[in-house]
Amino acid sequence: MVKNVDLVIIGGGPAGYEAAFVAASGGMKTVILEKEAIGGTCLNHGCIPTKTIMHSTGLFKKLEKIDELGINLENKSIDFRVVQNRKKEIVDKLRDGILSRINKNNVEVILGEGKIISKNAVKIGDETIETKFILIATGTSAMIPPIRGCDIDGVITSDEILEYNKKPYKELTIIGGGVIGTEFANIFSDVGTHVTVIEALDRILPNMDREISQSFKMTLKKRGVSVHEASLVEEIVKDEQGLTCRYKEKGKDAVVTSEAVLIAVGRKANIINLYEDNIKLEIEKGLIKVNDNYQTVYPNIYAVGDVIGGVQLAHAAAAEGKNAVMHILGSEDRIDTKVIPSCIYTTPEIASVGITSDDAKRQNIKVITKKFPMLANGKTVLSGMDRGYVKIIADENTHKVLGAQMMCGRATDMISELTLAIVNELTLEDIKKVIHPHPTFSEAIKDALN
Ligand SMILES: Cc1cc2nc3c(=O)[nH]c(=O)nc-3n(C[C@H](O)[C@H](O)[C@H](O)COP(=O)(O)OP(=O)(O)OC[C@H]3O[C@@H](n4cnc5c(N)ncnc54)[C@H](O)[C@@H]3O)c2cc1C
Repeated sequence: MVKNVDLVIIGGGPAGYEAAFVAASGGMKTVILEKEAIGGTCLNHGCIPTKTIMHSTGLFKKLEKIDELGINLENKSIDFRVVQNRKKEIVDKLRDGILSRINKNNVEVILGEGKIISKNAVKIGDETIETKFILIATGTSAMIPPIRGCDIDGVITSDEILEYNKKPYKELTIIGGGVIGTEFANIFSDVGTHVTVIEALDRILPNMDREISQSFKMTLKKRGVSVHEASLVEEIVKDEQGLTCRYKEKGKDAVVTSEAVLIAVGRKANIINLYEDNIKLEIEKGLIKVNDNYQTVYPNIYAVGDVIGGVQLAHAAAAEGKNAVMHILGSEDRIDTKVIPSCIYTTPEIASVGITSDDAKRQNIKVITKKFPMLANGKTVLSGMDRGYVKIIADENTHKVLGAQMMCGRATDMISELTLAIVNELTLEDIKKVIHPHPTFSEAIKDALN
């Protein structure tokens, strides 16, 4: 069977479905091909499942000090089967929401694996779809490093750990101290698991401001998490004690044994079997290469989201999807993708946008740094939170805001205020004019400027 459309989108994650809404409202006959489930990694194996589980484990951790709030609870325990059932309900509910928007926009969804067979045709099952444009939004999958023992039972990725429904692990080793690794360290230390994080680079959260890495490492240690930086895992072996990771820490041999090992060392682009040999996409470091308008070497084939690399976050993927379709539609109306906030949903939350003071030094930009410690913030103290700060970086001459880093309650919400400031070239004085309600975490933004 052959059908004709304007746009075939391969991948129904945030990049794909957000692009579909823009295409459909621009009058394009649009089809989404999805091989697993609408919502992509974000809804099914990423943002929503992790934060749903974290919501439960975070509340459980708070119970530790519940007596201090005058509340008496006995027999505190956590049942991961209930946590998983709730997660499934939430994911299903949100997927229904996306599907109803898809239906309202008259976008067709075909479930199955799409393959590009020519620059104007995609095959899915027995069906060939002829199309003016193709948008590749196939995302990424967990990367398995070439370490001996990664295939042993009990060595898992985020996909499997997000389905975990038994008693909390006694011990968990996490290979990789990036965003995914630290979020899982947070989740499992919340429920009493002894977590060990092994990071190859010289600091955890290597893409964040150095001060955030250091402060968060202290926070993890306080929670009982063992953190090993500049440490390379050489092999994983299984014996009666469990899974033993042998690693080198700053050149010295070391071992850690645990019930499970989580591999969280990064993601690889989903490009295998995506196109026939006659299609010659340019691939760089395993990612699809595109120009500023998200076009591949074929001007009618676009690629967006995690599969092209850059900032691999759901909101960045969605913005790229929208921008690519805007280009197809000939519109100049774009989302600013130069300024993308990054968030980590640990306790305390971490958020960053724009440049850090290290970036400013490297780029020879003279900056002023404004900082406020959260120990002096009323909402932080009354909520029983410790450590943390808000830091704002501005150009020394113009006072235009260039960056911000935060480690505190609600940092992942507050970062939008600073993102708005950077995108609209606001100055420190512009922010100072704004009343921030009391008592809130966001007062720290104003207080940093006084
Ligand atoms: C554990 C974890 C936690 C995360 N937490 C956050 C977070 O809190 N905030 C955040 O912003 N980001 C988070 N991310 C990252 C976020 O999930 C991704 O940035 C986002 O999903 C990328 O969107 P995408 O549309 O590019 O790709 P994806 O969401 O990966 O969607 C791609 C889709 O394409 C489908 N597909 C692939 N190949 C084909 C094919 N040939 N035919 C048909 N379909 C195909 C896949 O099945 C998938 O559904 C997290 C990721 C992980 C793994």
